[in-house]
Amino acid sequence: MFHRAPPGARHRINQGGPGFNMARYTGPVCRLCRREKVKLFLKGDRCMSRKCAIDRNNTPPGQHGQARQRKISGYGQQLREKQKVRRTYGILERQFRRTFTTAAKRAGKTSDNFLQLLESRLDNVIYRLGFADSRSQARQLVTHGHFNINGRKTDIPSYIVKPGDQIVVRDHSKNNEYFKTRALLLTQKAVPGWLRLDIAGLAGQVLTPPSRQDFEAPFNEALVVEYYQR
Ligand code: SF4
Repeated sequence: MFHRAPPGARHRINQGGPGFNMARYTGPVCRLCRREKVKLFLKGDRCMSRKCAIDRNNTPPGQHGQARQRKISGYGQQLREKQKVRRTYGILERQFRRTFTTAAKRAGKTSDNFLQLLESRLDNVIYRLGFADSRSQARQLVTHGHFNINGRKTDIPSYIVKPGDQIVVRDHSKNNEYFKTRALLLTQKAVPGWLRLDIAGLAGQVLTPPSRQDFEAPFNEALVVEYYQR
């Protein structure tokens, strides 16, 4: 007997459980931006081009996307803001919540701690240094073992970097065609002030912890805090 998959099942995020190995969204990512109605910059250079789906058609996805939008509740706003941040960094709910819990336990403002932890993830740092066009590409480079941190191979995208950490493309990867061409592109990338990039050495260094002023993000992180503390 055959069971037909419900509409939209192909794009659903698999939350894990018996019989499931993958737990990452594999559908069209522009759909996520359209759902949040802002650019989440998930596709590298395409996000800056006229091909960006948000620039062409900023309506929620689905057959009712163009219908008049209902008024969103307070809880709805918190949920949307949480999803916006989570999707920008490409993190699954369980890990995202765990990061929030760690941020809440630290001294200081929870929202600042939370964004600082998200920005300090190794995959994000690789993206910020310009070694990748998107965080998902950066995550792939990390998991494929192309980087050393302080001389040791590190292939964990969620690794939290600290001031003083040296991130270097591994010797055998430097001969890789991708990194050879990347070196030319790095000259055009703007690197945030809390990081230093050494283009010739294909390396980066963490100078200070990232602060909220160090990066532009279209988030209202206070709503995310309210969502998890409700
Ligand atoms: Fe989002 Fe980039 Fe797609 Fe534009 S091109 S909708 S910013 S992922």
